[in-house]
Amino acid sequence: MWSVPAEHEADGVFVMINVVIINIKKIIRKETRKKEKTEEREICILRETLDFILSACMSTHPNEFVGLLTTDKGARNLISDVIILPGTHSSAFSAYLREDMIPLGMRFIGTVHSHPHPHASHPSARDMHVFARFGKCHIITFFPYCESCWKCYNASGREISLRVI
Ligand SMILES: [Zn+2]
Repeated sequence: MWSVPAEHEADGVFVMINVVIINIKKIIRKETRKKEKTEEREICILRETLDFILSACMSTHPNEFVGLLTTDKGARNLISDVIILPGTHSSAFSAYLREDMIPLGMRFIGTVHSHPHPHASHPSARDMHVFARFGKCHIITFFPYCESCWKCYNASGREISLRVI
């Protein structure tokens, strides 16, 4: 009968342990990537930024408020600021983003605008056009601009969750 010398048996065990370690590392890497992807998809907003938006909408009422949402430098999906572009025109029926006033190289994740009519939380046909061109996260606030008087939509106008942190 053919037998493996003792030193080769030890080599075999060593190879097997290495294979197990490599597989464990692969699983860990896969899980980490999955977690990162989930985190990447989840968009968050700072509580103070949302509070600022709601109070700005209240101050602008009965006119519409409009601004661009920008993110924290270190966290691409964390909304930390609102940029109000110079020359923004707003009335009780509409607000326009002046595309020519967007500073060159400025990165933004989406837009925010208010609907002065109570419970008017759905995007209009014109909103859908803007959503498709200005990023992936769009907040609509509506009168009376309470803590829950807002909704968030993606570029195609589908409602998405936005975590407040
Ligand atoms: Zn609108």
